[in-house]
Amino acid sequence: MRGPLSSAARRLARVRAELAERELDGLLVSHTANLRYLTGFTGSSGWLLLDDDRAIFITDGRYDTQAQSELPHDAGFELLVLHDQLIAGLAERAAREFAGRRLGFEADHVTVGERERLRAAEETVDWRPVLGLVEQVRAQKDEDEITLIRRAAEIAAAALADALPLVESGTREVDIAAELEYRMRRHGADGVAFETIVASGERSALPHAATSERQIGEGDLLIIDCGARWRGYCSDLTRTFVVGQPDARQQRTYDLVLAAHQAACSNLRDGALGSEVDAAARRIFDVEGLEDRFPHSSGHGLGLEVHEMPRLGRRSEERLRPGMVVTVEPALYFPEWGGIRIEDDLVVTAEGAAALVPLEKDRLRSLPL
Ligand code: ZN
Ligand code: ZN
Repeated sequence: MRGPLSSAARRLARVRAELAERELDGLLVSHTANLRYLTGFTGSSGWLLLDDDRAIFITDGRYDTQAQSELPHDAGFELLVLHDQLIAGLAERAAREFAGRRLGFEADHVTVGERERLRAAEETVDWRPVLGLVEQVRAQKDEDEITLIRRAAEIAAAALADALPLVESGTREVDIAAELEYRMRRHGADGVAFETIVASGERSALPHAATSERQIGEGDLLIIDCGARWRGYCSDLTRTFVVGQPDARQQRTYDLVLAAHQAACSNLRDGALGSEVDAAARRIFDVEGLEDRFPHSSGHGLGLEVHEMPRLGRRSEERLRPGMVVTVEPALYFPEWGGIRIEDDLVVTAEGAAALVPLEKDRLRSLPL
């Protein structure tokens, strides 16, 4: 059987296998993206307590109806609605029903205060901090998820095509960002995956520029980095343009970034380390003595969160597997001159990797004035 119901059961089974691997009897899930992945719940207040046999979803009175409609009916979820003191109630339940068990909690997603309240169960429950367990399972996407991320990428690409004709001398960065975000919404996006980056002229040398009121002018490099969210899933695409005719340095720099992009992409395959993919891009820049001009990693996983596992950085020890969705985004930045970044979203396959959307990048595209 296929569809959302069986996929929930499949995801729970993968998490349970990972629990066994880490010698845990169960897990308390609190991270919103992990909860959505495992239960389909889209609200902001929920906890999932699961072991090999049971999966108890705990929420407060505001989400009673929503949880009943969102939790899949074939994955065996029990719903527990607590009207106040959620964590105290949860701890009490854990102490009673999971006595003597070794239960993980998500160390990156539990506040110090929450941790203190969980101690109420400590006489019987052995709480263990865990890192990245559900995130590790989430890194390898199922077909349904790849379809959703591809749709999110198609929306961002369509919005970009809509917004580009607006660029003319005097257009402000914020005007382009506003148009992009409006267009993504019009194409059906839940919203933006992250705050849209539009950086022009020397501001394009800032890797994470906040969009400003700067007016775009002739000869400017223009970096547009945008992503849509579709049914919870994110896209993240960047293109760099030049306003008017490119000069020789802009052209040469673009070609180098493109070569690094291609080098990274051709190293994406089943079994490759994230660090190997990153090194392939970096080598292109090293040869030119430009290693200092690429200050971030070559890419990151993409899914329910815009930055997730695996990372494609210098120290990424994660191995790529089919179904992982990653960005590839090498770049070069020169303060007071500008920057160039090219970012695509790709799915790792058994043979290599495939871009989720076709989006032209073979040459530095010039926008007419
Ligand atoms: Zn991006
Ligand atoms: Zn990115």
